[in-house]
Amino acid sequence: MSFSPSGTAETRELLEKYGFYTKKGLGQNFLTDPAVLSGIAEAAELSENDTVLEIGPGAGSLTRVLAERAGRVLAIELDERLKPLLGEALSDFDNISIHWGDVLKTDIAELLEREGIVPPVKVVANLPYYITTPVLLALLARKELFSSLTLMVQEEVGERMAAQPGGKDYGFLSVSVQYYAMPEIALKVPPHAFLPQPKVSSVVVLLKPLEKPPVALRGGEDYFFSVVKAAFLQRRKTLANALSAYPPVKTGRESVYRALDEMHLDRQIRGEKLSLTQFAQLAERLRDINKV
Ligand code: SAM
Repeated sequence: MSFSPSGTAETRELLEKYGFYTKKGLGQNFLTDPAVLSGIAEAAELSENDTVLEIGPGAGSLTRVLAERAGRVLAIELDERLKPLLGEALSDFDNISIHWGDVLKTDIAELLEREGIVPPVKVVANLPYYITTPVLLALLARKELFSSLTLMVQEEVGERMAAQPGGKDYGFLSVSVQYYAMPEIALKVPPHAFLPQPKVSSVVVLLKPLEKPPVALRGGEDYFFSVVKAAFLQRRKTLANALSAYPPVKTGRESVYRALDEMHLDRQIRGEKLSLTQFAQLAERLRDINKV
């Protein structure tokens, strides 16, 4: 008999059959709620014309739902102990391929080419939470490869991604994600939708990469991201103190005051008050003032 892991009992049975124990260190919380599985596929607006890149197929419950709706699914999974389980869970499908490896060490453009897949593809993933931010930033840095990203993340991370200036959730993640894409929270997911249950609630975030950045940066992105990073490294400090204390920004406090004066902003302002556009303006002015 072959198992289709589409509920808690079926998933538990599949794991038991292969003596598989989930590893917390690999973020292995498998989705078992059918309503959430189809909710994710709906948020991703899949059709037969789509190719999906799934990160971390686990025991295959989401992979099956994706493969029912999309033309093709390519999944990247690190834990080779899952080979026999996935082999069984996905045996009814001929439109799924698995790449065994670490997503953070995979050249995705090269993988797609090797698989004969022409970008853009749709990324759909119940992400391993221990690497959410690096995976997200790596994907956004190659955003031309993707038409959308539908990602299950910790609720708190989803709120930080979508946060606007002024609040406690607004930070480096908000500014860097919103530089590349418009985040939208599509679904809230309680812990009992997973096996084993995580301690935190989750959300599904839909990200549609922007055609072009919301602000023009003459001086390139690296300096801008250093400024944003410095502003939030010590978020209780004033912007002038935070930026002058972070060597990659190559500025003194007086230069920050000058830039803030030119922008008609208070010299004591903190980074959490600046919008994405204001961060871009500040970075450009500091580059000019300091001749970086
Ligand atoms: N998609 C499955 C589901 O929804 O039930 C499993 C999701 S589980 C939260 C995360 C999956 O990512 C696990 O299968 C885990 O082994 C895999 N994973 C963890 N680290 C990874 C990495 N660096 N690269 C690829 N996959 C990874």
